[in-house]
Amino acid sequence: MTSGSVISPTERRALLKEVYEQARGCIACQLHQTRTQVVFGAGNADADLMFIGEAPGADEDRLGLPFVGRAGKLLDQLLGEIGLDRQDVFIANTLKCRPPSNRDPYPNEIESCSGYLRSQVELIAPKVICTLGNFSTKLLREDSTGISRLHGRDEVRTIGTRAIRLLPLYHPAAALYTPSNLQTLRDDFARIPDLLALDPPPQPASDRQPEPEPEPAPDGQPEPRPGIEPPPVAGDVQLGLF
Ligand code: URA
Repeated sequence: MTSGSVISPTERRALLKEVYEQARGCIACQLHQTRTQVVFGAGNADADLMFIGEAPGADEDRLGLPFVGRAGKLLDQLLGEIGLDRQDVFIANTLKCRPPSNRDPYPNEIESCSGYLRSQVELIAPKVICTLGNFSTKLLREDSTGISRLHGRDEVRTIGTRAIRLLPLYHPAAALYTPSNLQTLRDDFARIPDLLALDPPPQPASDRQPEPEPEPAPDGQPEPRPGIEPPPVAGDVQLGLF
């Protein structure tokens, strides 16, 4: 499962790491004062499928990984039910830093952070993005329509320079607290394999460039499996997450 973008996997990782380095030092909003660490995102940088949640919670802030708490366990379970796991997808959030007491993100925080998410989408270039909950859905659709009206209805949206299939979903946390939402989320998840099987939507004219040749590994060995990275640089575990 790989993306149709025109940059090579190696370039993609290098550029994502540059964006991560910028995010790691970000002081653009007040959340830098209370975060333990920036939670950039994790998974397969070449994925066709990307999930975008709301913001790190306490567990994510502590571990530096997205969706590691109860909502994350449910996300793993739902992925498993459609035959996928975390190594098949890339998971990120609207905000890269935890809002204190898990309060809702403020508009200025979303605005300050949106450039990182847009860079991630541009570089990963997934075929399908599932927004989880209201915040990522409203941000990427640039519209205030709420998730209860939109969930499970895929549409093609131009995000940055790319046309991407967008599937808004309830946030897994909403399904934890309301059992009827869980069935709805499960039903909506079941649509993902069909969306992934479709050809990518026609791209805006400026993005229609030829595919590059795959990069040969320097020693003639096959390229490593996308998403599996060499060991992280000591002292920076997140660099090994994508
Ligand atoms: N909720 C989110 O939206 N993101 C996480 O990473 C964890 C919980």
